[in-house]
Amino acid sequence: MTDQCVFCRIARGEIPAKIVAESAACLAFRDLNPEAPVHVLVIPREHYASLNEVKSPQVLADVMQLAVEVARHEKIADRGYRVVLNINSDGGQTVFHLHAHVLGGRHMTWPPG
Ligand code: 5GP
Ligand code: ZN
Repeated sequence: MTDQCVFCRIARGEIPAKIVAESAACLAFRDLNPEAPVHVLVIPREHYASLNEVKSPQVLADVMQLAVEVARHEKIADRGYRVVLNINSDGGQTVFHLHAHVLGGRHMTWPPG
């Protein structure tokens, strides 16, 4: 299953991506179709299909820690930004490898669509 997963393949370096930051547990790279001036995806290197599959809070701590590092690196931390997890069909998830979207560089509207 992880053989075919596009984000596992990016993590293994089999598919090119614009890497922004990395840690032992996670990788951050630019979204192929950005929805904001800054749109970076943070993934755990280990495959989880969605948030529903995560058993340890450490996984989320690792993802969120790198998300903040990305925001600082992209100079949007003080202005503000949004971190989004889409989960399954109603959540709008299209790639089934857990990922956090880090969005910023413009004002975000609320509620999201
Ligand atoms: P989701 O809809 O699952 O929350 O978000 C998946 C995101 O992955 C989308 O924003 C989409 O543009 C992005 N994406 C899909 N395939 C690739 C890819 O091969 N490379 C990169 N960098 N982003 C991708
Ligand atoms: Zn995967």
